[in-house]
Amino acid sequence: MNVTPQLTLKQGRERSLLRRHPWIFSGAIAEVRGTPHTGDTVGVRAADGSFLAWAAYSPASQIRARVWSFDETEIPGPDLFGRRIAAALALRRAEIPLEATDALRLVHGESDGLPGLVADRYADTLVVQLASAGCERWREALIEVLRGQSGCARVYERSDTEGRELEGFAASTGLIAGTAADGPLEIVEHGIRYEVDAAAGQKTGFYLDQRDNRRRVGRLAGGREMLNCFCYTGGFALSALAGGACSVLSIDSSGPALELAKRNLALNGVEAGRAEWLEADVFGALRKLQLEGRQFDFIVLDPPKFAPTPKDAERAARGYKDINLNALRLLRRGGLLATFSCSGGVSPELFQKIVAGAAADAGASLLLRERYRAAPDHPVRIEFPEGEYLKGLLLERL
Ligand code: SAH
Repeated sequence: MNVTPQLTLKQGRERSLLRRHPWIFSGAIAEVRGTPHTGDTVGVRAADGSFLAWAAYSPASQIRARVWSFDETEIPGPDLFGRRIAAALALRRAEIPLEATDALRLVHGESDGLPGLVADRYADTLVVQLASAGCERWREALIEVLRGQSGCARVYERSDTEGRELEGFAASTGLIAGTAADGPLEIVEHGIRYEVDAAAGQKTGFYLDQRDNRRRVGRLAGGREMLNCFCYTGGFALSALAGGACSVLSIDSSGPALELAKRNLALNGVEAGRAEWLEADVFGALRKLQLEGRQFDFIVLDPPKFAPTPKDAERAARGYKDINLNALRLLRRGGLLATFSCSGGVSPELFQKIVAGAAADAGASLLLRERYRAAPDHPVRIEFPEGEYLKGLLLERL
């Protein structure tokens, strides 16, 4: 007898699942059979009764279920997680040379077939985020598999995301396996050392997705005066200084991030004189720098997410327009602007249009030199476009 609870979808609402998109919204469900608890596995069926997927039920969320598998023979559980995590690790091994970094995202949620699960490796420490009801239900099994396959004995949890709250769970953070490290957690990325605050830093401690873009910017920075907006713990600044930038002025509104940035500078033996740090709101600081008559020949804009979903796109567009316009007013002719958006709700096309609008208002002619995306440990599945959130442009002011 099959006792697994079943969701039956409304007529026509099977379409996104047939395209292998992993989310089932509450409005798509016609009937719930059985009494699934939060995180339980449910079978998902089309209105005609045909099997669509196995999913994790999440009664508190608008995303009422997230797909574990589209294959009826593939029952969710430790074996399935083991295969998914092995595939995720194999992808990283193939894409990221060992010498490039000892910090990388091993599992990137839906894009690795594990909705709600993020696992980042920082040297010998693993930092996990369990952001879905399904991951919470399988917490022990997932962590066991991750520890075994990654070889990291020490695991910190950083399940303090908004997504987890929407699934009806309180934040959960702290050391969950192994023993606490003696000192600060340290990583090496493209030859640059960083201290990472996994316990209290943003995200799981570091913006791994910008790894290769930081290196690229560093290679273009030689001999330039740089303005680095939204600097966090100094990633773009250190890369630029290593690449021979004359000076870097970095701005962030977070005091603790700037403290760490300064420690990172010292950690790499860079003379402090070439780096200036400013705790300020970038929107205001860009205006103030104009009043002071400052000019730069490389500007980086790497703001936080302004638009998590497409419905926030308009408000976000105003934010992007503002910082890009005001940055361009500080950029010399021949100068470079590396401008990023990590808003899932803003497409690459829209982002480029916004930047073009800012350039028109600034009276600047810009050559599109390069396009950027997230590093390969943040893979993108074509059926899950939400996974492609980070985009960037490198523009030269003519
Ligand atoms: N470039 C960084 C990541 C930037 S993340 C890296 O490579 O590591 C975005 C940063 O913007 C965060 O550090 C956050 O503290 C900061 N921030 C958010 N809003 C801000 C604002 N209005 N003004 C200045 N900094 C802001």
